[in-house]
Amino acid sequence: MAAPAIALLGPPGSGKGTQATRLSDELGFVWLSTGDLLREARAAGSDLGQRAGEYMDRGDLVPDDVIVEMVDGALADTGDRPVLLDGFPRSVAQAEALGRDLDAVILIDVPDEVVMERIAGRQDGRADDKPETVRERLRVYHDETEPLVGHYERQGKLRRVDGAQDPDAVHDDVRAALQ
Ligand code: ADP
Repeated sequence: MAAPAIALLGPPGSGKGTQATRLSDELGFVWLSTGDLLREARAAGSDLGQRAGEYMDRGDLVPDDVIVEMVDGALADTGDRPVLLDGFPRSVAQAEALGRDLDAVILIDVPDEVVMERIAGRQDGRADDKPETVRERLRVYHDETEPLVGHYERQGKLRRVDGAQDPDAVHDDVRAALQ
């Protein structure tokens, strides 16, 4: 049987990266963040990074063919270790293109106004953290990514966690959701 694969779903600023770091430290998951992989590809100046850049700066989704090829490549290197996907899938089309079944999907639920406050208060803000770009990332989340909630609910794989709590409480709930 293939090693377990789970995905973290949630809007920008929901704390997916914070939770993923702790889960990979404590439970040995290989953490695959598509946002981090794309930023690394951009910094390295690869073709893929250059193609992705203009979409990222607008807060829009990078085209599926670019992302799916990148994720498949990264998954091929994880061997038999359990995998934690952070930032993928971000649309039903991406979920269907993934050549691997997910065991569970954890939704870290945070209201838009909390997202706007959190990102505005970041000290180490990224280029795409400008308020108008965050609004676009939220619009894309609601339009493209949120339909995955129903998609995984119908498969009985969705677990919801209240992401507006402090990070330790979110972590406890995520651990409980994985039991
Ligand atoms: P956040 O979840 O805070 O928006 P990420 O680091 O996950 O931040 O993503 C940053 C940007 O990278 C997104 O706005 C998008 O342009 C691109 N990106 C990341 N993952 C994907 C994906 N699965 N499909 C398409 N684009 C993606």
